[in-house]
Amino acid sequence: PYLCGRNQGSLPVVVFYQAFYIMDIVAIVGRPNVGKSTLFNRLIGEKVSIVDDQSGVTRDRQYGQSDWNGKEFAVVDTGGFVRNSDDVFEAAIRDQVEIAIDEATVIIFMVDVATGLTDLDEQVARMLRKAKKPVILAVNKVDNHARQLEANEFWSLGFEETFFLSSVTGSGTGDLLDAVVEHVTNHVEEPSTIPQIAIVGQPNAGKSSFVNALLGEERNIVTDIAGTTRDSINSYYNKFGHEFNLVDTAGIRKKAKVYENLEFYSVMRAIRAIEKADIIVLIIDATDGVESQDLAIFRIAQKRNKGVVIAVNKWDLVENKETNTARDFEKTITEKFAPFNDLPVIFMSVLEKQRIMKVVEAIGQVHENRSRRIPTSQLNDVMQRVMSRYAPPSYRGREISIKYVTQLPIAYPAFAFYTNHPQHIKESYKNYLENKIREEFDFTGVPISLFFRKK
Ligand code: GDP
Ligand code: GDP
Repeated sequence: PYLCGRNQGSLPVVVFYQAFYIMDIVAIVGRPNVGKSTLFNRLIGEKVSIVDDQSGVTRDRQYGQSDWNGKEFAVVDTGGFVRNSDDVFEAAIRDQVEIAIDEATVIIFMVDVATGLTDLDEQVARMLRKAKKPVILAVNKVDNHARQLEANEFWSLGFEETFFLSSVTGSGTGDLLDAVVEHVTNHVEEPSTIPQIAIVGQPNAGKSSFVNALLGEERNIVTDIAGTTRDSINSYYNKFGHEFNLVDTAGIRKKAKVYENLEFYSVMRAIRAIEKADIIVLIIDATDGVESQDLAIFRIAQKRNKGVVIAVNKWDLVENKETNTARDFEKTITEKFAPFNDLPVIFMSVLEKQRIMKVVEAIGQVHENRSRRIPTSQLNDVMQRVMSRYAPPSYRGREISIKYVTQLPIAYPAFAFYTNHPQHIKESYKNYLENKIREEFDFTGVPISLFFRKK
């Protein structure tokens, strides 16, 4: 029942830092059909074609992680969010560009030599030139020498960093990436003693109402620490024995209204906020249930080892509530989040001020769980018992033994198991170990990482 999606693979280098770094966002903008999603796929290393010719919409592929020259970054394909219908077309692209300017570390502005320079390219270029963000012009579909000559017309857009490439063959993409990561800082945040909380969720789920209810009249808004370039605003909460920072709440309260209906905006905003947070409160509208955007946000939080509290809002609108309504609802919800379903779920009504404090308490509990450090001796006592009850299955007649286990000294729960055959521990056995850790120690709301090392 406690089965949790686990981060696998080799131990990432970053986990040795006590401090964590903020993932930079690289946004790709430009007209439809210039090749944005082709480049996106190349950057995140997926070969599958995601171009859906019928709808003109590329779905669920807007966000991926990549690295180049030792720097990590998230790539966002803004084209995935814009429907290609003519009437909304120009306005949609302008929105897309504006959001990228607000949220990205660096912008790849893509144009297409096969079509040549268009009015819309010029419009986008004007917006980008005014922005105070690094912009790299990527002239795409430069597949051969003749096109190289034609591509020269794009110098007239006036971007110092202009690159010619072919996303299909990959030629020129290396030079482009070299330039892109020059702007990627992987800025390291010093760990704060106060937990950083992000309130995320779909438009209209009740995020701003929730934040306002928490902060009330006494809200005390402090700007980010000097030296960070982003204009986000944090709010400090200190009441009833609970103390934390709400990250990016100004954005939730002001800007969200401007872009309310843009799916792209809510995901982009959420990525930013999740990166800065220790814990996310995912607000779900009870009348809608869990939707794909909620899951996308949840998976990002899980991947990045953030604590999670699920707050189902607008519980007042659910009619004919019976004794089991909440329990049934909770079951439906946690099934959606499977396999990571050891989660606190709170049913609240911000409107009627019901159970808002329960959410605050859950934040405190998840923070405690995420900070939990189990002494090695205690951990080994428990885990040796667990492992003797059910030993690791042998591999081709070879006996597998796990000698000992320690919790790594990092910001989120991660455990290293020392064994004679790290590569032969079965998936089912890893699940067993994780479930037992969750049964023995309280890690509700927190992703756990297990690593297996040679001993
Ligand atoms: P998006 O709408 O900007 O995301 O564009 P897509 O990535 O969907 O690409 C639109 C079309 O251009 C597709 O048919 C791609 O195969 C094609 N395309 C993308 N990159 C290149 C390239 O470098 N050279 C050529 N010849 N075609 C490309
Ligand atoms: P946001 O877009 O996520 O920030 O959502 P808002 O806080 O702006 O809320 C969207 C709408 O839902 C507003 O009209 C709120 O008054 C309403 N709302 C928020 N919380 C509740 C609730 O608990 N019950 C009901 N019935 N409506 C709510």
